[in-house]
Amino acid sequence: MTATETEAAAGRDFIRDIVAADLDAKRVAGVVTRFPPEPNGYLHIGHAKSICLNFGIAQEFGGRCHLRFDDTNPTKEEQEYIDAIENDVRWLGFDWGEHLYHASDYFERLYEWAEHLIRAGKAYVDDSSPEEMRRLRGTLTEPGQESPFRSRGVAENLDLFRRMRAGEFPNGARVLRAKIDMAAGNINLRDPALYRILHAEHPRTGTKWCIYPTYDFAHGQSDAIEGITHSICTLEFEDHRPLYDWLLENLPVPSRPRQYEFARLNITYTVLSKRVLTQLVQQGHVSGWDDPRMPTLAGLRRRGVPAAALREFVRRVGVARANSVVDLALFESTIREHLNKAAPRRLAVLRPLKLVIENYPEGATEELAAINHPEDPAAGTRKLPFGRELYVERDDFMENPPKKFFRLSPGREVRLRFAYFVTCREAVKNAAGEVVELRCTYDPATRGGNAPDGRKVQGTIHWVAAAHAVPAEVRLYNTLFARPDPGARGDIMADLNPNSLEVLKDALVEPALAADTTDGPVQFERQGYFCRDRDSRPGRPVFNRTVGLRDSWAKTQAGG
Ligand code: ATP
Ligand code: MG
Repeated sequence: MTATETEAAAGRDFIRDIVAADLDAKRVAGVVTRFPPEPNGYLHIGHAKSICLNFGIAQEFGGRCHLRFDDTNPTKEEQEYIDAIENDVRWLGFDWGEHLYHASDYFERLYEWAEHLIRAGKAYVDDSSPEEMRRLRGTLTEPGQESPFRSRGVAENLDLFRRMRAGEFPNGARVLRAKIDMAAGNINLRDPALYRILHAEHPRTGTKWCIYPTYDFAHGQSDAIEGITHSICTLEFEDHRPLYDWLLENLPVPSRPRQYEFARLNITYTVLSKRVLTQLVQQGHVSGWDDPRMPTLAGLRRRGVPAAALREFVRRVGVARANSVVDLALFESTIREHLNKAAPRRLAVLRPLKLVIENYPEGATEELAAINHPEDPAAGTRKLPFGRELYVERDDFMENPPKKFFRLSPGREVRLRFAYFVTCREAVKNAAGEVVELRCTYDPATRGGNAPDGRKVQGTIHWVAAAHAVPAEVRLYNTLFARPDPGARGDIMADLNPNSLEVLKDALVEPALAADTTDGPVQFERQGYFCRDRDSRPGRPVFNRTVGLRDSWAKTQAGG
């Protein structure tokens, strides 16, 4: 185990250590954290890490966690995203109680604080064009240069800023900037923008404002207004921390939060960038934000991933300051562990091949007892209808099998799960030479799947009865990207996996699967974990494969 994993197993990490030390030393009276999404997309599994960290710390240390929408950019933000985010945080198992906030709740106060900085000679209105400002900003190796508008007097700055608010100027004509240091090594301190002109309607404040605070001007002050003690964010904000501190030190804020940064979650084969996820949706590479191939919480939920598995995965990954990439296999094995316990077993044939038992009486049916969960006797049994005509999995037959193939082939005896031993006598082919039907015989003495003479078979296969099976659609998902490091070579869309979705329209499932319309997970024996999709119709269920039974990377060709 890495140091981070050892800490995670113990429920500790460097941020929890800081919080514990601050509480012990009475530097804070209680812990207050926040999760601050920008409502410009759906939440993804990276956000789940931040949610679990912020809400988790509040729970563990007896504090509280706010949900705060960072709604400072009305051009990209929508009510649909606000609703989805609230829904997803709740689904993940967290509750902000009455502590739902919006940066836009503070627009008036932020505006007053901007005037405060102007009056203190610490902010000025700059008329430079965006190109000019970029040119004067300098680079990582060269200092910036001062704007000719930097030396404007307080009265003129106040007048211009008020006229910006009054709507006198078009978008981009002027910005309010902090007056810090154009030679600072940290580019964020080179007179950063505080307010921009944006004539756009805001989902909450409507047309009241045509100037909007930047992220930097809104975030720390919102933290201070809400009494946040530990403002936890990802590493890309580390370089913003000096500005976060400068603003809090230069404004009459009611409290003094501190910012701490941790490494964002990265997973192989997975893209966790709202910008790219938005592109996938807009360009139609997926069916929507909740496409089960998406790493969004809405997508994972639709795919059948339990919230508890997500929380456990995030706990196992731990919290560190070093960037790393987590193997997708860790996520999948965590999901499997949860589903293994929760999912009843069922029989479903995804690619059916007809099997006729020649010595089974025509027109007869019987019911066989099938256990619902091999590790949980309390889950009981169900009745499986059986008859002369069955369907088995196409892949479970081979005409000329290799040595280790223990399933059906001419002359071979196998066990039909919960039923009988059958021996394949003949494969019937169509004109094209494809196998369309298997003719078999069964041994009536093997009812329940065991031979009284102790004779063994090496293969056990699943099946459904032709007369009772229910037609279903089954959707198999593979990784949305074909490479472990999507985008590493440039165009990220070029790394999309052309085989990320396989739709099987002719699947047949046992009757119990069609009768149960609850949302719980099921295991299709020998196939994987599945859940009902919301596209299901009466008499025609649709199932999503949540995850296969084994690590798909370790899969072998061997039968059995
Ligand atoms: P993206 O980078 O995907 O566009 P974002 O960081 O802009 O997302 P926000 O809505 O600003 O999205 O994020 C809300 C919170 O979630 C922030 O505190 C951010 O640091 C955190 N967060 C975003 N992505 C990850 C991630 N991959 N791992 C951990 N935390 C994340
Ligand atoms: Mg962000």
